[in-house]
Amino acid sequence: MARRTKIYEGKAKILYEGPEPGTIVQYFKDDATAFNAEKMAVIEGKGALNNRLSEYFMTGLNGIGVPTHFIKRLNMREQLVRQCEIIPLEVIVRNVAAGSICTRLGIEEGTPMPRPIVEYCYKDDALGDPLVTEEHIAAFGWASQQDMEDILALALRVNDFMSGVMLAVGIKLVDFKIEIGRVYEGDFQRLVVADEISPDSCRLWDIESGRKLDKDVFRRDLGDLADAYTEVARRLGVLPKGSTPMTKPTLIN
Ligand code: UDP
Repeated sequence: MARRTKIYEGKAKILYEGPEPGTIVQYFKDDATAFNAEKMAVIEGKGALNNRLSEYFMTGLNGIGVPTHFIKRLNMREQLVRQCEIIPLEVIVRNVAAGSICTRLGIEEGTPMPRPIVEYCYKDDALGDPLVTEEHIAAFGWASQQDMEDILALALRVNDFMSGVMLAVGIKLVDFKIEIGRVYEGDFQRLVVADEISPDSCRLWDIESGRKLDKDVFRRDLGDLADAYTEVARRLGVLPKGSTPMTKPTLIN
């Protein structure tokens, strides 16, 4: 058996060279990290759940004409994606105040935003992903003015889609982070939603009880992370109905 080429290993995923040029295999690990990797744990089942949930959201986005890097899921832990050049920004959309905006601006957690707020952070772990303005992004050449218009439009479309999908299963989409990639097609470049969309990169609150169903469960020691992600997957119909919370999820298909 030939060993495949590892392109990159991050905190939650490993990227391998794909079977064809221009493709990549994304492997979802069970590792959970928080506070810039100061807190770490292995949570059995998390990788499989995020692989399946990210597939679900990316497929839905592709279906409404929001381009993503997602091609297909390969197995429990891996998906095939288009290779792209990641723009070094974390694009954050907030509907309700939580996390860093609360400490930064002194806003109480749970305060609804007057409208969805889009923020940009420069992707650099050593610097702790600092918040940057469009001025920095333009001056340092991380993205052009046209890119920024496209990124804003993509972020808001993802927010509308994800908010609706979650609302339908009784979950409030509080905030989320996406990454954007460039793909080149001949003389043209196109921006696509890349990386992953999962409860690792969103804040999700049960509308009735306020229960947190995202990575804050791990960040704040609020219970079992796999249980929370299983609950999200089950409500979305990604796990069989009536299945009990499990550490080794049985996935449909
Ligand atoms: N987020 C993420 N990766 C990061 C930083 C943030 O996925 O490196 C997500 C986080 O899970 C939340 C949203 O982006 O859904 C906003 O995060 P925030 O700025 O509040 O930072 P945090 O409180 O997570 O430090």
